[in-house]
Amino acid sequence: MITLALSKGRIFDDTLPLLRAAGIEVLEDPEKSRKLILPTSRPDVRVVLVRASDVPTYVQYGGADLGVAGHDVLLEHTHELGPGGAVGLYRPVDLGIARCRMSVATRAGFDYAAAARQGARIRVATKYTHIAREHFAAKGMHVDLIKLYGSMELAPLTGLADAIVDLVSTGSTLKANQLVEVEHIMDISARLVVNPAALKLKQDRIRPLIEAFDAASRATAELRP
Ligand code: ATP
Ligand code: MG
Repeated sequence: MITLALSKGRIFDDTLPLLRAAGIEVLEDPEKSRKLILPTSRPDVRVVLVRASDVPTYVQYGGADLGVAGHDVLLEHTHELGPGGAVGLYRPVDLGIARCRMSVATRAGFDYAAAARQGARIRVATKYTHIAREHFAAKGMHVDLIKLYGSMELAPLTGLADAIVDLVSTGSTLKANQLVEVEHIMDISARLVVNPAALKLKQDRIRPLIEAFDAASRATAELRP
């Protein structure tokens, strides 16, 4: 059996066409079913639904042979584990799906450029503390990081923080909350991660899958504007 870990929502939705291109149909709709293990049209392939941030953990410890996770999630995960954090995770393919960017945003009235220039100590709320710490350290900015688990947009509006580090795709959530993007940290897309032991043991079936995903993501990349 080959087990693929996905998270519900955009990762699942964007991975479906790649699976389809590899000749694999997922036989149940996660939005309609309560099942956490979904069968596919290939009797030897199944999909397990896990929390987005749990995908690397499942793959690393062999709960899944492969998985799809955002680069944001992978970066935070490897930092979390410290040196050698990526051990047990092969990252063979940038799938170019679930695209967004990691950005700094503030209230419309906050002068971020001046704060940065003057070396002011600012408070930054984020779920991505490792990415944020590296970013501000590289700029030599002094920040107090406040860890949040969701709804980062609320932090500057309530005075909890001066700025947030969050994922932005269209920018409409920021706009709806009168926040402005003041700095682009990095572009983010989802990657295929593979458990190296599984790859060794099930080469004959996993390699073609990786290649099919690679080919399908290249094909869709060519169609992208
Ligand atoms: P959870 O909802 O379980 O707390 P999550 O918010 O990280 O986790 P999703 O919202 O499903 O999970 O996002 C999964 C991935 O999709 C992210 O890790 C990121 O790589 C990508 N993504 C693309 N666009 C966005 C966006 N606008 N906001 C958040 N994530 C995005
Ligand atoms: Mg979410």
